[in-house]
Amino acid sequence: MRAIPLAEIASRGRHQGGLDMKKFFVAIIAVIVMTTAFASVLAASYVGNANSRKFHYADCSMVNKMNPNNKVFMNTREEAINAGYVPCKRCNP
Ligand SMILES: [Zn+2]
Repeated sequence: MRAIPLAEIASRGRHQGGLDMKKFFVAIIAVIVMTTAFASVLAASYVGNANSRKFHYADCSMVNKMNPNNKVFMNTREEAINAGYVPCKRCNP
C-alpha cells in the first residue's frame, strides 16, 4: 500500500466534492476496526482442549489439529490452570 500525503487526498477531495475524503475516513475506520479485532484474537495466547483437558500455546501445532468445537481460548496461564487444564507436553506452556 502506497502512502498518500494528506494534502494530496484533501485536494482530491475538494475536486470531487469531498467524496474521496469521505472514502478516506471510512477506510481509516475500517483499519481501526480490523486492528482491534486482530488484537483481541492475539490476546488469547492459550488454547485449551475441552476434550483432553490440556492447554497449549496458541501457535502449538496441536491447536491446528484440534477439533474447533473443543477449543477454549484463554488469555493467561493461570486461567487455564484454574479451569483444571494441564500444560501440553509438546509446547510446554
Ligand atoms: Zn501444545
